[in-house]
Amino acid sequence: MNNNAAQILDNIFSIIQNLYNEMRLSKNGENDHIKVFEIFADLGRTLAGADRASFWKWDKREHLLITKAATGVDQIIISDKTGLVGRALAENRTIVTNDPENHPDFNKKVDEKTGYTTKSILVMPVSNCRGEIIGAFQVINKLGNDKGFDEIEDSKRLSIAAFICGMALESDLFLADSQRDKLTELKNRLGFDYDYQTRYQKILSDPQNNSPLSIIMCDIDFFKKVNDTYGHDAGDAVLIYVSKILRSEVKNNGNVYRWGGEEFIIILENINLSDAINLAEKIRLTVMNSVCHFNKNDLKVTMSFGCAEMLAKDSFEENVKIADVRLYKAKTTGRNKVVAD
Ligand code: GH3
Ligand code: MG
Ligand code: MG
Repeated sequence: MNNNAAQILDNIFSIIQNLYNEMRLSKNGENDHIKVFEIFADLGRTLAGADRASFWKWDKREHLLITKAATGVDQIIISDKTGLVGRALAENRTIVTNDPENHPDFNKKVDEKTGYTTKSILVMPVSNCRGEIIGAFQVINKLGNDKGFDEIEDSKRLSIAAFICGMALESDLFLADSQRDKLTELKNRLGFDYDYQTRYQKILSDPQNNSPLSIIMCDIDFFKKVNDTYGHDAGDAVLIYVSKILRSEVKNNGNVYRWGGEEFIIILENINLSDAINLAEKIRLTVMNSVCHFNKNDLKVTMSFGCAEMLAKDSFEENVKIADVRLYKAKTTGRNKVVAD
């Protein structure tokens, strides 16, 4: 092994040791893969002798390509029908061009915007363990020669970085999937637990914090009747329709979670009890006055609500319990109402 190769290996060992120590010491909930993407995008850049490198996530639901890490530029989000990355993913093949100006898929706009000159590109698709393509590794501008990238040699050098970024992305996607309810696309209870630990608990326990967190628990009234009268698919359609209303009413003021069955929990940030009550009342009216069309049936439902402001002195279970007791009170005193005491 020559000195140069030994030096490169030693650098890789140091990089991975730092990452290993950092992950081992990170506290609950702070452990994401941003560092992995950053470090391995840069390592791929070094190993392929490129000026720039980026690792892209393919969001198939939104039809977007999103950089998880990119050297030399900020995050980029583009349509998955765009550019060489889009082409490499759509056709599941590595693309190399050392004359991008004349490549039909090269997107000139980025260079025009940033003033950078792209002379050579290599894009490798990255898959999960089932062989489904989930992202791509890209390097730009081979340094030190005018010939540009060599598909065989440089793909080989990049594969360690592409492989590790792929594993990290797969595990991020798996975590996000496990926290989302497939039917309504709302976060589920696992998602709530994660957000509670990583976000709400910190806000609540911060003595400097005086911005309130509020809870709305809500449940569809007589939902069983929808299933019994129109069938389970109609019930599912109502759950999707109600979820959309909740999400669009809550907007950026907080998060909506499917707590279970036809019950939802909303956490509102920087919103006090009286504003939470107003929002719950607004949602109640919107649900009551709108119709879910399903298979020629016009389905109408109402909802009941229990509201509470979270108290730092109480545990999470105690806080939820207060909202839950109020929801129960709304149910037992007539339904289709908001209770906050
Ligand atoms: P209440 O006003 O007291 O809340 O009455 P309810 O009928 O809404 O409540 P109940 O707990 O008696 O029934 C809830 C029903 O929700 C029973 C269950 O089969 C149904 N359900 C739970 N999850 C789903 C789902 O994902 N899809 C459908 N279609 N139904 C579901
Ligand atoms: Mg119900
Ligand atoms: Mg219920």
